[in-house]
Amino acid sequence: MGLLEQYAQVVGEDVIDQLRQLGTHLQGMKVVHVNSTKEGGGVAEILHRIIPLKQELGIDAHWEVISGTDEFFKCTKLMHNALQGDRIEISGELLKEYERVNEMNAETLRQTLQDADFVIIHDPQPAALIQHIPSRKGKWIWRCHIDASHPFRPVWKYLRTYVEQYHASIWSISEFAQPLPHPLYLVAPSIDPLSEKNMELGRDEIMATYDKWGLDPERPIITQISRFDRFKDPIGVIQAYRLVKEFIPIQLVLAGGGATDDPEGEEVVRQVRQGARDDADIHVFVLPGDDHRTINALQRVSDIVMQKSTREGFGLTVTEAMWKGKPVIGGDTGGIRLQVVNHHTGFLVNTPEGAALRIRYLLKHREELQEMGRKAHRFVLENFLNTRHLREHLTLLLAVMFETRERIEVP
Ligand code: UDP
Repeated sequence: MGLLEQYAQVVGEDVIDQLRQLGTHLQGMKVVHVNSTKEGGGVAEILHRIIPLKQELGIDAHWEVISGTDEFFKCTKLMHNALQGDRIEISGELLKEYERVNEMNAETLRQTLQDADFVIIHDPQPAALIQHIPSRKGKWIWRCHIDASHPFRPVWKYLRTYVEQYHASIWSISEFAQPLPHPLYLVAPSIDPLSEKNMELGRDEIMATYDKWGLDPERPIITQISRFDRFKDPIGVIQAYRLVKEFIPIQLVLAGGGATDDPEGEEVVRQVRQGARDDADIHVFVLPGDDHRTINALQRVSDIVMQKSTREGFGLTVTEAMWKGKPVIGGDTGGIRLQVVNHHTGFLVNTPEGAALRIRYLLKHREELQEMGRKAHRFVLENFLNTRHLREHLTLLLAVMFETRERIEVP
């Protein structure tokens, strides 16, 4: 069975027919996506699935990954944090390394980028490639996955010198978009219902998960799955857990790995282990980047899933948990707000105290917890699966291709 047909079983034939119709205009077009990591983080997750789907629609889709040095990734991590609002000056030396690495990658990728009909560059890491590919056949689009609602201005000003050279840019939610001299598009990310991360798991596998990870099936489990990154606020989650633990004998799972482009991760893991010491009910699991099945299982054995980020681009972990019928208690920030409809699909919180209050409430009102979980699942089915994402990509490419035409006929 083709990939598209498999999706039809989840989302219905109509949705797939519409994708095929949109794809007819883009047959044989070369679309190249570029980012900086194959594993780890939401961008890689999305590309892993969107690329084969585009290929099945007859689009000549490619995915290229740039390589970089430690100094380069240090620089781009600073850029990432600065776009998320940290007041960080980046030294001229680091920026030189950023430019040098982009120039080097442009050499390697020149041929494929030069003759592509569309180039979609993800996030700041490869943003400067455009500067070094002066003869561009196709349209270049910059895709920002970051919460850039309050960027540190000097860093955004620097990055903007590259971004404004693109034909268009894509943002996850309207609050993140920055004024630019080209069309701006909004596309929320998505999850893949057929991936190992999100597929149904058998009862045996779920039961085995308790044993394997030393969890007690008789007591509630609260989980946060995230890269160990301080913007995900794992320490705040531990504080919330401790407040609840005074009243209810819960267990806490903090599971995640580091993306290969995030040098800060180790320090955060150290702080989390320190915060978790002396409590056997706090389980810290550092997972390899490709252990999707474990994440799936851990989300499924959880009663409630947390995503207490203080900054968040979108929060795919939120979508994943909701798809599994779990209410999510999430930080009142970024894309979490698009997904957690307060009091319906979960709760939005601003403090560990607020999170603790909501955890206690849900554990005491089990029926409400389950009803919220059901609503969460339906909300994802309608809004955040990758078929919706793909449809928006295709319409966007058509819009960029036809530019000023007011009406695009789809056969
Ligand atoms: N993830 C993973 N392993 C981990 C931690 C996270 O595979 O150890 C996955 C997670 O399930 C989700 C993605 O990485 O699919 C994280 O995306 P999100 O938008 O939540 O956060 P980001 O890491 O992009 O900031």
